[in-house]
Amino acid sequence: HTLPSEERGPAVANNFPPTADLSEKDRMRVLVTGGAGFVGSHLVDALMKMGHDVIVLDNFFTGRQKNVQHWIGHPSFHLITHDVVEPIKLEVDQIYHLACPASPPHYQYNPIKTIKTSTQGTLNMLGLAKRTGARMLLTSTSEVYGDPEEHPQRETYWGNVNPIGPRACYDEGKRVAETMMYAYENQGEMEVRVARIFNTFGPRMHPNDGRVVSNFIIQAIQGKDITIYGDGSQTRSFQYVDDLVRGLIALMNNNYSGPVNIGNPDEYTVKDFAELIKSSTESTSKIIFMDGTKDDPNKRKPDITLAKKELGWEPTVAVKDGLVETIKYFRGELKKTGEIIPT
Ligand code: NAD
Ligand code: UDP
Ligand code: UDP
Repeated sequence: HTLPSEERGPAVANNFPPTADLSEKDRMRVLVTGGAGFVGSHLVDALMKMGHDVIVLDNFFTGRQKNVQHWIGHPSFHLITHDVVEPIKLEVDQIYHLACPASPPHYQYNPIKTIKTSTQGTLNMLGLAKRTGARMLLTSTSEVYGDPEEHPQRETYWGNVNPIGPRACYDEGKRVAETMMYAYENQGEMEVRVARIFNTFGPRMHPNDGRVVSNFIIQAIQGKDITIYGDGSQTRSFQYVDDLVRGLIALMNNNYSGPVNIGNPDEYTVKDFAELIKSSTESTSKIIFMDGTKDDPNKRKPDITLAKKELGWEPTVAVKDGLVETIKYFRGELKKTGEIIPT
């Protein structure tokens, strides 16, 4: 049950990016599940550059080896092909648990597998964290708020999720993953961290990811129709991946253990976002309206007061600046692969 998404890079990278020299005492063994994916690979870059030993665990469902190719062969980097649904024994100091497909077409491709990944996968990582005494961070999602009745969303909001809809395998999967995190913390005296991530974009997004940022950019570059699902009045708030990575590392290494929103409150209607992508790419594409998707949240914007107060974190990259980098990346991908048909 894998998508034909695995793409390999060149055999050996010989020039590694520079890494800091950490003393034995400060250097940690950090496990990143889902580390070959979009967010995971940027997190791996940051941890490697900080001078840590990094173990990536990934089943390559949506991840790609080329995302971490530049570290292969580095003595501090280890790549393990493994499905988190199966138990595994490793000795680590910290666990960033990202493994889980994140885009609606990917997580709805095999909903049962998505549920197993969020439940059994998270349980296995919690068992590993408990045995090793590692601190564990879960990448949860703004989707735990469902189609929110509170706007912007604070961490205290319990959410409005359809438990049997097409998005439930992901939303409820993450909700129960959060439940397990705090059950283990309470019963096992472990240290857990929960990041509720809002829509994130940047280089290394999978071109066939099907998310709005990748679809619109690819359509705009190729001069194809830009496809709005529904009337385009629904809103999303977009953050650049570098801000997210900084937020995840700050959360992991801070004392605050409750769930924390990590997102950029810069909110757009999907229609305005389509216009922004069209003008940013100087595209001649037509913007068209298609049927809406079931249970599509009507609005979404993080309240980041807590992250500012507890972590001293806030986003620093403007959406427009992040888009410049992302458009550059997709232009490069399209040059390499020719035509891409967005999901
Ligand atoms: P992604 O699909 O690029 O990355 C997910 C990674 O997990 C991939 O490398 C995939 O191969 C791996 N994976 C999936 N199932 C696995 C399994 N059973 N065993 C081992 N590896 C498995 O997605 P992403 O955007 O990088 O998302 C990373 C994390 O952040 C996910 O947990 C996602 O739910 C969360 N998140 C992302 C966003 C966003 O906008 N990107 C928003 C909210 C939450
Ligand atoms: N687990 C794992 N690696 C470890 C420790 C545990 O994969 O290093 C798995 C274990 O197989 C179990 C899950 O994590 O499925 C939960 O472990 P825990 O010790 O909490 O529960 P138990 O093993 O008692 O069911
Ligand atoms: N969307 C759209 N056209 C697309 C892809 C997505 O209009 O080609 C809309 C989608 O219906 C949703 C928003 O953009 O309202 C964000 O969708 P995405 O899949 O990126 O993320 P999520 O719904 O999980 O926030």
